[in-house]
Amino acid sequence: MSIEVQNISKSFGAYRALNNVNLTVNTGELVALLGPSGSGKTTLLRIIAGLETADPHSGTILFHEEDVAARHVSKRGVGFVFQHYALFRHMTVFENVAFGLRVKKRKYRLGKEEIRSKVLQLLELVQLDGFANRYPHQLSGGQRQRVALARALAVEPKVLLLDEPFGALDAKVRKELRAWLRRLHDEIHVTSVFVTHDQDEALEVADRVVVLNQGRIEQIGTPDEVFHHPATEFVMHFLGDVNTFHGRVNQGTVEFSSLELPFPQSRQQIAGDARVFIRPYDVTIDTKTNGLPALEAQVTRVHSAGPLVRVELKTSADQRLVSEISQERFATMNLEVGKTVYVRPRHVRVFAG
Ligand code: ADP
Ligand code: MG
Repeated sequence: MSIEVQNISKSFGAYRALNNVNLTVNTGELVALLGPSGSGKTTLLRIIAGLETADPHSGTILFHEEDVAARHVSKRGVGFVFQHYALFRHMTVFENVAFGLRVKKRKYRLGKEEIRSKVLQLLELVQLDGFANRYPHQLSGGQRQRVALARALAVEPKVLLLDEPFGALDAKVRKELRAWLRRLHDEIHVTSVFVTHDQDEALEVADRVVVLNQGRIEQIGTPDEVFHHPATEFVMHFLGDVNTFHGRVNQGTVEFSSLELPFPQSRQQIAGDARVFIRPYDVTIDTKTNGLPALEAQVTRVHSAGPLVRVELKTSADQRLVSEISQERFATMNLEVGKTVYVRPRHVRVFAG
């Protein structure tokens, strides 16, 4: 089931939480809504679900090309998982997952044995076989969220909506669960919209990422597209650390912080004042200039306890920047605080300033 969001706006009083949002989620796709807190992610998800209505005359939500605006939540075939999904505390895991199947009208309801085998299958799917008789308080946070997911899947939703489902869990469990969710989605292919404010989570889990900022879509693209080809400065900042400079684009060059680098005009139509962005892993450092254009800078801090070594630097013009280099390279360089180094950007991204 595909989802089409067409020209949706939503105001709370004078505040515009969503501003003319357009989005298509293809059948079987897993799309992440990514944005900072307050950017409108939950509001958009709730409108898709039918738990919230868009502004009158603003637009429509189509499920498989059918306008569902007037259709009640319970008739949309939507499954939910929220950050704090209240499982029924007095019910076992089994009963929680069976709940949606047991409350169906008699003529749609499966027989007792069928319900039982379906629930056990679902528990296997979320890797909780053997936990059927436990109560929610006997589970870890990650296990509870997997029960919540099994419960949402029990009624075979056509669309699965997840609002920061791992938001309340600690970093390590989150990481495990997002890899697991991706594998699960590859198995069941239910059309899914996943809300998160965590860029790593969105980039790792989603087929496509929708970056939201102040109720507007900044960019829609595959994880590679939004990460490597950010459409706006906001996306550039939101998807990772970045060094920022004021500069100028002239005929075929970009100039910033006393550096002049070639900048083919064909790449972007920019002239004059510009803002220059460089990811830390695109900043190389050397102890000699090697005759190449480079910025002279001093090391102000070295943080080497990680997969990459993070080197903080300050130029003579007091511009601060960060470089990330491999442990291997670090081992050959003998870097320490106060040392003078030569900095060269490997790749810059320029936006009109
Ligand atoms: P996100 O999920 O991205 O953090 P939300 O969609 O929850 O953002 O909220 C977007 C904006 O709309 C926020 O500024 C929030 O305060 C506001 N908002 C959300 N729901 C309501 C509401 N029921 N009444 C008033 N303002 C709301
Ligand atoms: Mg939210």
